[in-house]
Amino acid sequence: MKIICIGRNYVAHAKELNNPLPSEPVFFMKPDTAIITRNRPFFYPEISNNIHYELELVIKIKKNGRHIQEKFAHTYYNEIGLGIDFTARDIQQKCKEKGLPWEPAKAFDGSAPVSKFISLDRFPDKSNIQFHLLKNGEKVQDGNSGLMIFSIDKIIAYISKFITLKMGDLIYTGTPAGVGPVEIDDVLEGYLNGDKLLKCKIK
Ligand code: ZN
Repeated sequence: MKIICIGRNYVAHAKELNNPLPSEPVFFMKPDTAIITRNRPFFYPEISNNIHYELELVIKIKKNGRHIQEKFAHTYYNEIGLGIDFTARDIQQKCKEKGLPWEPAKAFDGSAPVSKFISLDRFPDKSNIQFHLLKNGEKVQDGNSGLMIFSIDKIIAYISKFITLKMGDLIYTGTPAGVGPVEIDDVLEGYLNGDKLLKCKIK
């Protein structure tokens, strides 16, 4: 399986990092070695001194497809979860300045904690899915799928022009505003429509 992540999919987040708004989805990938499941801890890596959390809605692909039309995209997923796109902001800044790829800042081991997945049938309105992140009990990020620049269906249509999507692939759909650094002993908790789905302790 593979993990495809969307960058700059919320206006307020693009602005907080001084990025222009994209006219097409920005995407990058993480390897399967990035995944952390079952609320296991994240070990702060030696490569960076400025690891940031980014809480995101995550879609699990349920069947293989390429060149998927937007109007059929909804038939390719029926489960949603939460994930953290851990980002080495110091390395990413250097990559951006030099025009280099982002993988060293985004794809490192453990950079993709992900929750269990739940049926999208529980969310009759896909454009109004609320999610938020607590850091040490304090709300730091508050998002809603309705604020995405590119909807889930648009993202799937766009990515599948380049890359075949396969059953079990995960799509991280971008982070709302409020990203920030973590430190050892911090606890992150992600909520989806009020239910706690994700917990991640920094070690
Ligand atoms: Zn992200």
